[in-house]
Amino acid sequence: MEEWQKELQEALTSAEQLARLLPVDRTEVARVSERYPLRIPHYYLRLIEEANDPIWRQCIPSLAELEKPAGLSCDPLAEAAYSPVPGLVHRHSDRVLLLVAASCAMNCRFCFRKNRLAAGELDFRFRDLEKAIAYLENQPAVREVILTGGEPLLLSDLLLGNLLKQLRRLPHLELIRIHTRIPAVLPSRITGQLAALLGRFGPLYLNTHFNHPHELTAAARQAAERLADVGIPLGNQTVLLKGINDRAPILEELFRGLLRMRIRPYYLHQTDLAAGTGHFRTPLAGGIDLMNRLQGQVSGLALPQFVVDLPGGGGKVPLHPERITRTEAGLQVRSGSGQPIDYPDLDN
Ligand SMILES: *Cc1c(COP(=O)(O)O)cnc(C)c1O
Repeated sequence: MEEWQKELQEALTSAEQLARLLPVDRTEVARVSERYPLRIPHYYLRLIEEANDPIWRQCIPSLAELEKPAGLSCDPLAEAAYSPVPGLVHRHSDRVLLLVAASCAMNCRFCFRKNRLAAGELDFRFRDLEKAIAYLENQPAVREVILTGGEPLLLSDLLLGNLLKQLRRLPHLELIRIHTRIPAVLPSRITGQLAALLGRFGPLYLNTHFNHPHELTAAARQAAERLADVGIPLGNQTVLLKGINDRAPILEELFRGLLRMRIRPYYLHQTDLAAGTGHFRTPLAGGIDLMNRLQGQVSGLALPQFVVDLPGGGGKVPLHPERITRTEAGLQVRSGSGQPIDYPDLDN
């Protein structure tokens, strides 16, 4: 067994284990994790400096997850409706998501797929891959496949290599992209052998998911360097999270730190309208204000696009103030095609 597999096996998964290490309310954690499972690698747990700090909030279950504010959904982006075959989401003509793994190294408390993952709706089997490949063979307009999940890099090198090989047989496929939280939560998974494997299937882009400067450790830097050194361009997607990174100096430190690790900030995401994540949401105007404050103050390379994935499958749009209209009922945001979509915003 490889070191990262051992670490994964030793990850905390129960309230009892957690209560032995941290001052949590064991019954509360047990109650929440019954609904939304708990999993934290020791590596990530060690980044906690004090109770309720930005690392704690991302991984420790909270009773707020069981609240049910109006407007939140178990499938906020209507991915099921855009899924022609299991595990594949085809919303945009030129690119598809392939959800190749149903679990993660860490269960992030703010995950927008947490309801579908917990319900076992995202399990992916070998025959699903066969169906996905067969589907893609008949979709010559698809130029890019994005591997996501769950955590695609939890697949073994053997399975991943096989998957990449099958994708590369599609004559119309130009790009492969991997969306992964691994460099932030289990960087030991990025072995030299994995980097070499991924490097053979270029052009392959990889987007990491760092949310806070405390996640930019020496181990994370080494993981990023291994990938960059074999020629994989690195981007980063950050989720804007209330009480975690919703302040300009924190985002500035995060984005500057990422660039030093050769990772280009790509998107800052408005938190999706997923059930169990309402306590992480910030008002739309708050994110726009944060980006305006960073604009001009930091290198253009450090500035991601601030995007919202519109509810019901409206797709991702960059959040410029001119897209937003205030109505009696709340807000409307114009989608990429110009259609106004109701957005249940928070009061400022
Ligand atoms: C986010 C997303 C993508 C990727 O979008 P980019 O803007 O290219 O990063 C592709 N398909 C679906 C369904 C998505 O939700």
